Amino acid sequence: MGAAARRLRALSEIPVSQLRHVGPQRTAALAALGLENVLDLLTLFPRRHIDRTRRVDLSDLTVGEEAAVFAEVRSSAARRTRQGKSLVDVTVVDDGETMKVAFFNQPWRAAQLVPGVQAIFFGKVSDFRGTRQMTNPVVDVVVGASGEDHDARRVGGIVALYPASEKAGVTSWEMGGFVEESLRRAGPLLDPLDEAVRSDYSLVDRTAAFWGIHLPTDMAQVAPARRRLVFDEFLRLQLLLALRRRRLHESSTGVRHPFDPADLEAIPGSSPPPGSSLVRQFLAAHRFALTRAQRRVLGDIGRDMSSPIPMHRLLQGDVGSGKTVVALTALLMCVDGARQGAVMAPTEVLAEQHAQALRADLAGLRVRDDEVLGGERDVVVRLLTGRVKGKERQAILRELARGGVDIVVGTHALLSEDVRFRSLGAIVIDEQHRFGVEQRALLRDQGRARSDEPVDPDVLVMTATPIPRTAAMVVFGDLDRSVLDEMPAGRRAVATAWARSTTEVEAAWRRVREEVAAGRRAYVVCPLVSDSERVEATSAVAERTRLATHELRGLSVGLLHGQMKGAEKDEVMSQFRAGEIQVLVATVVIEVGVDVAAASVIVIEDAWRFGLAQLHQLRGRVGRADAQSFCFLLGEAPTPDGVARLEALVGSTDGFALAEVDLELRGEGTLLGARQRGRSDLRLANLRRDEDILLQARSLALELVAGDSWEEHDDLIDELRLFVDDEEARYLFRS
Ligand code: ADP
Ligand code: MG
Repeated sequence: MGAAARRLRALSEIPVSQLRHVGPQRTAALAALGLENVLDLLTLFPRRHIDRTRRVDLSDLTVGEEAAVFAEVRSSAARRTRQGKSLVDVTVVDDGETMKVAFFNQPWRAAQLVPGVQAIFFGKVSDFRGTRQMTNPVVDVVVGASGEDHDARRVGGIVALYPASEKAGVTSWEMGGFVEESLRRAGPLLDPLDEAVRSDYSLVDRTAAFWGIHLPTDMAQVAPARRRLVFDEFLRLQLLLALRRRRLHESSTGVRHPFDPADLEAIPGSSPPPGSSLVRQFLAAHRFALTRAQRRVLGDIGRDMSSPIPMHRLLQGDVGSGKTVVALTALLMCVDGARQGAVMAPTEVLAEQHAQALRADLAGLRVRDDEVLGGERDVVVRLLTGRVKGKERQAILRELARGGVDIVVGTHALLSEDVRFRSLGAIVIDEQHRFGVEQRALLRDQGRARSDEPVDPDVLVMTATPIPRTAAMVVFGDLDRSVLDEMPAGRRAVATAWARSTTEVEAAWRRVREEVAAGRRAYVVCPLVSDSERVEATSAVAERTRLATHELRGLSVGLLHGQMKGAEKDEVMSQFRAGEIQVLVATVVIEVGVDVAAASVIVIEDAWRFGLAQLHQLRGRVGRADAQSFCFLLGEAPTPDGVARLEALVGSTDGFALAEVDLELRGEGTLLGARQRGRSDLRLANLRRDEDILLQARSLALELVAGDSWEEHDDLIDELRLFVDDEEARYLFRS
């Protein structure tokens, strides 16, 4: 090692143009692929490796089985079949033996697979007049036709296959050449983890890891190399999250809200002693007792809220697990300390619903207010959305600033410039899993900036999207986490059926009529038609008319879609709640949070078009009371994934189990979508496969950041700086 060992930063400072075979044209092509320096190249990992040291003879290929064949193109010819289809016939050879490869409807293959090209062909082996053949295989060109250095040594060993780009004109083979040169030029790499740590976590050193993944001499080197590189990816991510938390704790002034754990034991129907907290009064007067999970979670929240470190907690609970009462109790802790609470909902419909429910639940609770006659008044809940305008809005703003509003419920409009609080003590964000780390930080800063009392409000983020544990550690790793893992007693699983035949579909509509006849309510969810709300609304209108005149003739059928005015939506929702509307035909606007306990059946049209998490959310609109509820999925699924989603939904009502399936089907890409930018992305790591590595990296990260000597880890800090922008670096690393 010694002084020569290089940091990743040093690699990032070597432009690709310094490589031997990279001239201006190649530089541009690589730049188009996002590869500008040697570090970019070294973290461009092979998609797979082909072990040429243990080659299979073409003649040994078994007809009917899948195989990967590395061979050189001998000839290729394009022609038309008698039916007029384009056909490219290719003959490839390996070690003197030949195989035929046929491509239908891929005329461009003739230009790609010219004699001399070496490629890997993946496909099913068939027999064509005594010769082995593949039809429409997947092709990875390894060595292109011209201009490349045909290094027999490389072709004969283990070949790493890179995500090559036809468009940029860089083959996997060339890419391998650039990577190899980069590795050789880089020399020994500095390892930010010392020997002891590496041995604790069974990690090979960094230099071995990069060589092992790019240029293995034995396939046995690949797995340990990958393990180390995955560990590093997770470690960087977890270090950043842990540092954010540490800085947050150091730089903030939180509120010590009053909290007495004994209050959570209040029994409904009991009379609380005079002078009891609002929390106790509320729970003693409530319709139901808390579940054990709700009490446990409120214990977590109470501990956070009564500590001077601002709460930054995620509350995860499946649909119907009872998050609302938890949030409300938390808000009351805040009101108990004479501070204000804010609830942010993603839509106006939800904000409205929350405000209504909160008012009903808080009826009769009194707080001190020296500015009113008698020095006491009811707890005041106000709704503030973009629709609240004019005098009404001015009045609410005035009361918020004075402290005459205890709880304000709203949408993003809560963050507009003119909203000021006397003393904002807590913020609850409902169903906002789409928020990223930055937005949450912004929200907290805003909370502080808008308040006369300069404190950092406690933040509780609630989500019903069951995120697998590993994904939560990545997406929400900066938050503490509580899970409501118990449903209120007496709930029955929603009976879910995929109605495919005409008879089954008829039975579904019959069920809707029966439930309505029994005094309950039904939802019909219209297909997702396009990204345009307008088009979607039009189709919902048509579907409502069709249903009202056919399947559901004689019933009172209402309509809810995203293009309706706020007041109209409220009107429809309250009619539906009251039973004046019996069946609500709706677009996905009902997806999150809508709570009408009398609804016992939901029909989802063209169900395959929805994502699994979305379907589970939609189904959660029913089964919110003791009555047996039903969910019908309509429509055939034209894709295998669609079938898998619907079958999963029929098979399970457990949101967490479904989330695992979803992750399996979609991969982590979508989940991590908005998480972070730039190079900190997980390139090699896979959340499902690498859960154990994630846990280990996380535990090391927490240990490192919690220790007093964190600031001494120069090498790690220098490396992390590469993965964040300057502003964040200043915040995290104090310079
Ligand atoms: P979530 O928001 O988690 O989907 P809600 O808070 O809307 O769930 O609660 C779902 C339903 O269960 C509501 O009708 C609520 O009143 C009821 N509920 C919540 N907690 C309990 C409990 N401990 N016992 C009985 N019913 C409960
Ligand atoms: Mg809810």
